[in-house]
Amino acid sequence: MDTLATPYRLGSGALLPLPLARYLPRLPAGALREWLNIHVPPGAWLLDPLGLHPQVALEAAQAGYRVLVACNHPLLAFLLQSLAAGTGGDAFRKALAALLTTRRGDQRLEPYLLGLYQTTCPRCQAAVPAEGYLWQRGALQPHARLLHCPHCGEQGEFTLTPEDQAILQSIGAAPLHRARALSRLGAETDNATRAAAENLLRLYPPRALTVLFTLLNRIEGPGLTPEQRTWLHALLIPLLDRGTALWPWPQTPLRPRLTQPPPTFIEVNLVRALDEVLALWSTVTAPVPLTLWPALPPPEGGICLFRGRMRTLAAQPDLPPFGAVLAVLTRPSAAFWGLSTLWSAWLWGEDAARPLLGLLNPRAAAWNWLANALHHALRPLTRRVRPETPLWLMADELTPAAALAVLLGAHTAGWEMQALAYDPEAPALQATWQVRTAPLPTPTDNPKPCLHQALQRHLSERAEPADYLPLYLEGILALRAQGYLPARVEDIPPGYAGRLQALVNDVLADTTTFTRLHARAEGESGPRWGLTAPPPPEPLPLADRAEKAVVGYLLNHPLVTTVEVEQAVRQAFPGLITPRRALLQAILTSYAQEVAAGADQWQLRPQDQPNQRRRDLQAVAHALRHLGTRLGYEVEGDNPLLWRHAQSGEVRYAFYLLASAMVWRFLAAPHPQAHHHVLVLPGSRAGLLAYKMQRDPRLAATLQRGWHVLKFRHLHRMAGQSDLGHDLWEALLDSDPPLWRETAQMSMF
Ligand SMILES: [Zn+2]
Repeated sequence: MDTLATPYRLGSGALLPLPLARYLPRLPAGALREWLNIHVPPGAWLLDPLGLHPQVALEAAQAGYRVLVACNHPLLAFLLQSLAAGTGGDAFRKALAALLTTRRGDQRLEPYLLGLYQTTCPRCQAAVPAEGYLWQRGALQPHARLLHCPHCGEQGEFTLTPEDQAILQSIGAAPLHRARALSRLGAETDNATRAAAENLLRLYPPRALTVLFTLLNRIEGPGLTPEQRTWLHALLIPLLDRGTALWPWPQTPLRPRLTQPPPTFIEVNLVRALDEVLALWSTVTAPVPLTLWPALPPPEGGICLFRGRMRTLAAQPDLPPFGAVLAVLTRPSAAFWGLSTLWSAWLWGEDAARPLLGLLNPRAAAWNWLANALHHALRPLTRRVRPETPLWLMADELTPAAALAVLLGAHTAGWEMQALAYDPEAPALQATWQVRTAPLPTPTDNPKPCLHQALQRHLSERAEPADYLPLYLEGILALRAQGYLPARVEDIPPGYAGRLQALVNDVLADTTTFTRLHARAEGESGPRWGLTAPPPPEPLPLADRAEKAVVGYLLNHPLVTTVEVEQAVRQAFPGLITPRRALLQAILTSYAQEVAAGADQWQLRPQDQPNQRRRDLQAVAHALRHLGTRLGYEVEGDNPLLWRHAQSGEVRYAFYLLASAMVWRFLAAPHPQAHHHVLVLPGSRAGLLAYKMQRDPRLAATLQRGWHVLKFRHLHRMAGQSDLGHDLWEALLDSDPPLWRETAQMSMF
């Protein structure tokens, strides 16, 4: 079986707006369902041994499967339970209303909390709530307030007023809340844990901590039903995250990994943020049956939650027969491990947080910790599933070390990889495995030739430079196939990830075979590795093949969305060679137009219909013949069309006519005698060609060696000039070079 023949599954391509989504693996909605449709009959039992993403169980249960989830993380288990309740936000809204109308002294809670954010509009002097405050990392107080006045419309960043300062003074450093926040971890915490917790607490501006702990105290106070408390706890979880300093300003999406704030961050108005977090709980709109082990959900589909480790679950008698195992994870984030431990302690006390305290240790973010954790979750299963049971493993936010950890975790647990697909965007991988039944091969002593061959093969197949991670993965696959990877978790030597990477780098440093380049394209930049030897005409570079695939798809589908194009391309380029989204977007904007701006419904441009392009090419050939004759050349051939010097017989110009930006077939086999080589193409392709040159430095270098690019429109314009002689022709030939971003402004040719 070809390990690299399956595409990375995108589902609908959408990421669900779930609570804490920025810490969860980026599992596109529908991707798992797609995989299940192929591999597991409906109604079967599935097992999620990690419980690291609520969407896994929810999506599978909604597709009619029964899912047993082992989840040892109180916060993630609670997320799953609250989402499965599927109240569509209604229960949350009612509980919140009850909370905000409780009294604090002689004041209702909501106005008290809003008062902490009150400020004065600099234009109309009305008292308005600030939208947030801007902080420099490490500062003692914010340097600006953000507001949008509902009365006069004034909005923007403004300096703090004495009134704002007074509110800050009244809050102080919130020492009471700080002490309380720490005490929730329990009295028996060791110094390291306490220090880690104190460090995390620094992520909270005093006002945020005050608001959050006021809400927390209020939730625990009288006047609310146990059910309301549950919904309010759920609501508080994303708010606890919103209150941290881990929100960059200007606002950009951040997946926090480190427990350090961005250089400038926003302290949002948490009372106003309540609406935003309410919406997050409305993603699942219908209840999904959920039981606690050993009670079982109905056969039509549902979730059975086991609150504990996989190791403990595997020892239970009467486990159902599993049709598949689903493991979805992301690279461990110190920010999430730390904060979720703290939050668990705040919400449910020290007993709930105790199993997580180890996660406060920075070691928990190390690659070998990940390999070990995955190994221990997957190992017991090899004895509890039938040999043909597939394991679907998705891992997000990969680095070379994290990718190695994930693959080694499953490999040493006794699973054999059947298929691997790589997503260059996340970057992430999806792999299908089965319990290993055959013995591992015995390696010879030097892995280097095996790696060398694998990387070379990968680049030959791609026929263009690659970035590091797919090459590295190709290398691991080759080492695995030859038996070089450690077979048991205890055989993984310390520092193995570093050593393996050094070995790959060492192989790539062989300049007789590999060349290091640097790509500078928008959405696709950084170091690349290509082959040193001049590439043959076949296979075409991946970019040219991707262009062909997209155009073919557009010709067969009159109206397409970006995700549909992406899916079609991923189908055509599976495994490790999936092209980047930025390239597909460049191809799409070159050939297609949106039916309405922003509609994400694309259709082939009228001028790119094959009949129209055929006529254009005929007109271009005609113009070149005519012009050549006018300039005194003998004109011959079609493609290339040649201008031959009448006296010397030299071929001065060879013109290569094309309607695409797939120039490699010409570059690789130029006319042997021509002095000048001219690619003649539509203006709307010139931008795409420029983009390709930026992402593939080797293509750029080849084109810069005696090649010209002439756009249809420019040719016709020159041909229309009555005074065009040799000198003017030469001067004008390169006066309209291809530029990236040209496509957007291009006109009809
Ligand atoms: Zn105003």
